[in-house]
Amino acid sequence: MADDRAGINALMEITARPDLIFVSGQGSWIEDKNSKRYLDFIQGWAVNSLGHNPPAVLQALQDQGRRLINPSPAFYNQPALDLALRLVGSSCFDKVFFANSGAEANEGAIKLARKWGQLKRNGAYKIITFKDSFHGRTLATMSASGKPGWDTKFAPQVDGFPKAQYNDLASVQALIDEQTVAVMIEPVQGEGGVIPATQQFLQDLRALTTQNDMLLIVDEVQTGMGRTGTMYAYQQAGIEPDIMTLGKGIGGGVPLAALCAREAVSCFEHGDQGGTYNGNPLMTAVGVAVFDVLSAPGFMASVNARAQQLSVGLQGLAQKWGLPGERGSGLLRALVLDGNYGNELVQLACQRAPEGLLLNAPRANLLRFMPALNVSTSEIDTLLAWLDDLIAQVRAA
Ligand code: PLP
Repeated sequence: MADDRAGINALMEITARPDLIFVSGQGSWIEDKNSKRYLDFIQGWAVNSLGHNPPAVLQALQDQGRRLINPSPAFYNQPALDLALRLVGSSCFDKVFFANSGAEANEGAIKLARKWGQLKRNGAYKIITFKDSFHGRTLATMSASGKPGWDTKFAPQVDGFPKAQYNDLASVQALIDEQTVAVMIEPVQGEGGVIPATQQFLQDLRALTTQNDMLLIVDEVQTGMGRTGTMYAYQQAGIEPDIMTLGKGIGGGVPLAALCAREAVSCFEHGDQGGTYNGNPLMTAVGVAVFDVLSAPGFMASVNARAQQLSVGLQGLAQKWGLPGERGSGLLRALVLDGNYGNELVQLACQRAPEGLLLNAPRANLLRFMPALNVSTSEIDTLLAWLDDLIAQVRAA
């Protein structure tokens, strides 16, 4: 670490990072500069849907890198067309705009809804979002987010994001006025603590937005691309939203995101939306490769089997240690603790020897699990056994 101090000091300090430098990864395992291995249940924050360095991603990068990296978004390229067709073919949406991050895709969704409001709803522009929601770190997506404290950071906020209570229809109804154009929701609040919307709530929101001539936007940056056991989480509620955003898992680790919309809502005119890197063939070729693995026969069944195994295992730990329980959807799960010792567990897990474990605590009383979607049964067993030991250590102290 001493040799790397100058490099570390040259980086902006934007978060507390452990004294570790990761150099390589394979599947569910990642290795640091001292050759210590870690079982990774963070996976780049639910990004590496196929684990670290999967062959499909490497092959696509190599093949496409040799062929063409970036002709400019002012021209068509083959992988962007191929991926757009896959996304519209697997969803209720008709049009796709590619972006580089979840926040950028959400910015696009906000712009699209406001544009639609200008054209169809007399300039209605307000988008109802939810307390404790997370939509990104640009100014508009921070304003849309309901993360405590974010309303005063970088003030003034972008106007027009009233906050309702998650899973509470009356609180949404109460916020609707003439200027309300849409509701934007995460099907599972990920950063907010892995809280799933009920299917009834999503169905009610679809009905409410339709009745009021408003759009329903689902932010599936974290829940999409198989994370919750279906390609898209909205499908489990049997609804058809107007707009969906994707990110994280869609690129299997590379920067790729997407804004998807139904035909009737796709109202951008030339010059309204764009971006230098958007839809570049290197990233979209990886997106195609990832999509094809996720949609292969049997893949989603194995995601659901592993999700069941993880859920049952976490319930077992909850029972053994008298914890409140576990929750989540598919392979986005949380173990609720009986005290604020989540960060302590995260640190102990990382320091574990000879092999470490990477965990995340989005709340002090909660551990979140977002493994690779192709995590193995034995890797989940290992996680559960190590977690059991770690909880025992905290209890003993
Ligand atoms: N939306 C949701 C639901 C997210 O979970 C995240 C990131 O955690 C984002 C948007 C922002 O995505 P990105 O960090 O790629 O900008």
